[in-house]
Amino acid sequence: MAVTAVYELPDIHKVLRDGCHLIDGAWAPARSGATIDVLDPSNGTLLARVARGDAPDVADAVTAAQAALPAWRDTSPAERGELLYRWAELTLEYDEVINVLQAAEVGHPVGPSPIAARLKYLAGKADKVLGRTLPTRSPDLLGLTLREPYGVVGAIIPWNVPGPFTVFNTAPAMAAGNTVILKPAEDAPLTALFLAWLALEAGIPPGVLNVVTGYGAEAGAALPAHPGVRKMAFTGSPATGAAVMAACARNLIPLQLELGGKSPQILFPDADLNRALPAIVASITANAGQVCAAGSRLLVPDSLHETVVAEIARRFAALRIGAWTTPADMGPLINAVQERRVLDYIAAGSAEGADLVHGGHKLEGDAYDRGFFVEPTLFDGVRPGMRIAQEEIFGPVLSVLPYRDGDEDSAIDIANGTRYGLTATVWTRDLGRAVRVARRIEAGQVAINVVGDGGPRGAIGAPFGGYKDSGFGRSMGPDFVEDWTQEKALIIDAAV
Ligand code: NAD
Repeated sequence: MAVTAVYELPDIHKVLRDGCHLIDGAWAPARSGATIDVLDPSNGTLLARVARGDAPDVADAVTAAQAALPAWRDTSPAERGELLYRWAELTLEYDEVINVLQAAEVGHPVGPSPIAARLKYLAGKADKVLGRTLPTRSPDLLGLTLREPYGVVGAIIPWNVPGPFTVFNTAPAMAAGNTVILKPAEDAPLTALFLAWLALEAGIPPGVLNVVTGYGAEAGAALPAHPGVRKMAFTGSPATGAAVMAACARNLIPLQLELGGKSPQILFPDADLNRALPAIVASITANAGQVCAAGSRLLVPDSLHETVVAEIARRFAALRIGAWTTPADMGPLINAVQERRVLDYIAAGSAEGADLVHGGHKLEGDAYDRGFFVEPTLFDGVRPGMRIAQEEIFGPVLSVLPYRDGDEDSAIDIANGTRYGLTATVWTRDLGRAVRVARRIEAGQVAINVVGDGGPRGAIGAPFGGYKDSGFGRSMGPDFVEDWTQEKALIIDAAV
């Protein structure tokens, strides 16, 4: 069926310079001159080329960030907040460009973005970073603490939601007076470059936010290895996170780490299925399941089992799958490697004896052949030890794990029985049970009768981050700007 395009790529070439990254407020090619093609994952067409940066480019960015640091650190926090607020307003003005650009490079349907709201929240915190006064043993002395920036800091982000990750990983550090080098993912660097250009347009000085594009093993590895970088943030896979942590250890610098997830959706017999089912389907099909917080394990009590499995299969079958240019519910996976990985997990699920209820295949036909489209896939009868119940698939694959009605302990054990602990959702009308279960879940964020932070109606500034192998440190949250400061004790003897 031919589908008419409803979205088109904005003319990004008016802004982004072909084959370049953004260092010291200027578009620059890689020192080597090499470039990376950024492709539309729905059809393989070339969207743009960016610089293939490496260690010399990271060194240039560190030099620029070091030069910008003294003035930015000494800019009043109120003014830094105003500049970040102006950046937020520009992201609202260019909202559609940002949303379409991210959809084009990641492949997901065009949708609203939390960028402006989060940026405004962070901007408002810039002038509320407080030190403390300390008691002293003599009235002649004054003891204080100051909160000061680290200096030049680095951030490495994945490809799945580059817009929000750009903001969460740069704005708090900038609000606190640090200057930043961001390394976006090679598959989706365009939204990050566009946002960094908007930051310049907002009046944030050159060198405060630099974006070095390139591959992980080149530009990515060079960033935490550079001795001029004083703190790092990394969002991505556990294996790469461990490598970045080792590099930080060599330079003795702190790190904020946001890794993967295998988030449980726990249904209890009294759950409101009218609310739960659409949310459960959206949680595993949004961005084709390429979301760290995707609800990839569904724990179902025996009494609901048959109804829930049939209803989810029906809803999966009704999803419109297509390119971001069309009114689709779900797009393709990011690249051929990710597609292979997801199809291999599907094969592993069947081989281990799980019951394939829906999907399981690559989609075929004119609308799909040049992209990486995999059907939303539902496995029933999944046992907790199976690979599809333990490992992060990062694709639209939902595993149903049955448990006995009333056996709350067993549901909690299954929910906690993976290496991960990022998010969880509890569906029940019994608030006492909801709170009891939520307290026992090992995850950095637990939602009850809602998913994530509740979206546009939800909690403002909810901390996000992992327990166990899902990482440490929190993005967003009331302390997020403070996290990018170090505390200095100041003791003044006034009896002079
Ligand atoms: P990845 O770890 O392969 O890559 C992430 C980033 O690290 C990319 O920019 C990449 O270029 C860079 N990189 C790769 N090798 C590197 C190295 N040796 N040194 C430094 N940087 C290097 O992850 P991915 O496949 O792009 O993203 C998917 C993973 O990210 C999943 O595991 C997902 O759960 C996780 N993720 C976590 C969160 C979270 O907030 N917890 C959010 C989104 C994605």
